[in-house]
Amino acid sequence: MARVVIIGAGLTGISTAYHLEKNGFFDYKIFEKEAQIGGLCKSVQQDGFTFDYTGHLLHINDNYFQDLIKNIVNLDNFNLIARKSFVYSHEKYTPYPYQTNLYGLPTNVIEDCICGFVDRKKYNLSRNNKSKNTYSYYQWVLQNFGSGFGKHFFFPYQQKIFSYDARKLSSTWTGRFVPKTSLRNLIKGSVEENQDTVGYNSKFFYPKKGGIYYLIKKFAQQLLNPIQTNFCIKTIDSVNKILIFDNGHTEKYDILINTGPLDNLLNSIKDTHKLQALKNTSSKLLCNSVVNFNLGVFSEKTYDKHWIYYPENIYPFYRTGFFHNYSENMAPKGCSNMYGEFSYLKKSKNFINNKLELCLKESKKLLEINDKEILTEKILHIKHAYVIYDMWREKNITKIHNTLKLENIHSIGRYGQWKYSSMQEAVLDGKQVVEKLITNNFAQEIRYWKISHDKIIKDQNLIK
Ligand SMILES: Cc1cc2nc3c(=O)[nH]c(=O)nc-3n(C[C@H](O)[C@H](O)[C@H](O)COP(=O)(O)OP(=O)(O)OC[C@H]3O[C@@H](n4cnc5c(N)ncnc54)[C@H](O)[C@@H]3O)c2cc1C
Repeated sequence: MARVVIIGAGLTGISTAYHLEKNGFFDYKIFEKEAQIGGLCKSVQQDGFTFDYTGHLLHINDNYFQDLIKNIVNLDNFNLIARKSFVYSHEKYTPYPYQTNLYGLPTNVIEDCICGFVDRKKYNLSRNNKSKNTYSYYQWVLQNFGSGFGKHFFFPYQQKIFSYDARKLSSTWTGRFVPKTSLRNLIKGSVEENQDTVGYNSKFFYPKKGGIYYLIKKFAQQLLNPIQTNFCIKTIDSVNKILIFDNGHTEKYDILINTGPLDNLLNSIKDTHKLQALKNTSSKLLCNSVVNFNLGVFSEKTYDKHWIYYPENIYPFYRTGFFHNYSENMAPKGCSNMYGEFSYLKKSKNFINNKLELCLKESKKLLEINDKEILTEKILHIKHAYVIYDMWREKNITKIHNTLKLENIHSIGRYGQWKYSSMQEAVLDGKQVVEKLITNNFAQEIRYWKISHDKIIKDQNLIK
């Protein structure tokens, strides 16, 4: 029995455990279904190369998060890198973001984008009649960037990364992920290379050693309670508040914090009158999958780029990137390692395998990688990758979370909350849920546990 049980030891679960302990609360257990902790922030070592589950770059714009990272991992162990990312189209590399960097593209593309931008106001008609939740991404692009940008970049790229129709997507996720532009900026970036860096990811941190897993390792080392791995929660008896694991273990809880995918959580809840309706909603929650293909190459490819976006359909992948440009320790000396990604939604194994084969072939051709140079290949499957912000999600997601909360189940993190978010948000989600619990549930107990915690620390110091 534990007062609080945390499902999942990815960044959100570990942050929740960390913040519980930081507040002096130790009556919790954390269970992870995999043998290794970290979730999407794991890194894989193979033949001297290190690969993440696609590039995981640390963007920091929150003071609390920055201080926490400084204390836990020491920023000296990270490279601070100025982004060199590009869009590849019409056989040209243009700096990201597309909406401020048209220089070098064919004249008709530049014309389409500028004229479309000037004309974009004509799409504003329906805006006031629609709530943000039912306002499609397609309309949002037309209103903010115009039809030219839609045609040449946003619509084809979004289709590739989300595997979902832009007309059926809501626009609520766009926020900081899609930098805006202005006529002045757009013209400036059409007549010469734009020197301005735009967007939330213009600078980022990356561990000097060990890939992004280094962050997880350091975070987890802060915990006094153990993380129990190879414990997969299969059934939640929410009436009696008992968890049943696939290895036969059972655990009673008072408060459940889920950081695993919300659709799986809803499926695992044992029938109760109150939550039965929710169970039926799990199949309506949409999330795509990503196949991440990685190559370790015996050749010092510089490429002078961190990652590249591909909006055109002639390239079956939507992004490639180069780990060795994040840290020289990601590949053995004289070698380089690249990654690529493609997404799909509800496709057969056959489709996935054929597409993977095509992606490998086309990316090698484009990046001039010879088969003889390839030392290692690692294919990683991300089953839950990009949550689809369709209209059903927009109408129902808050209701789902509110109903779960009534049963003392808090579902947080990128997949727990069912959203598009970063590592920073994962850590902050853990902090926020603990703050709420402390205020609402166990301020009294915290005082008691704080005393116990001080005692544990004192005992540990005495032992040392
Ligand atoms: C392709 C891609 C690229 C990304 N790039 C970046 C980036 O560059 N920068 C950035 O900041 N963010 C990036 N992100 C986002 C980042 O990965 C996430 O925000 C963060 O890792 C989410 O952490 P989490 O703990 O919420 O979820 P997860 O990492 O998914 O962790 C959930 C954990 O729960 C466990 N679990 C699930 N079900 C159960 C169960 N039944 N029982 C027990 N355990 C269970 C899982 O095994 C997993 O370990 C990217 C995401 C994707 C998909």
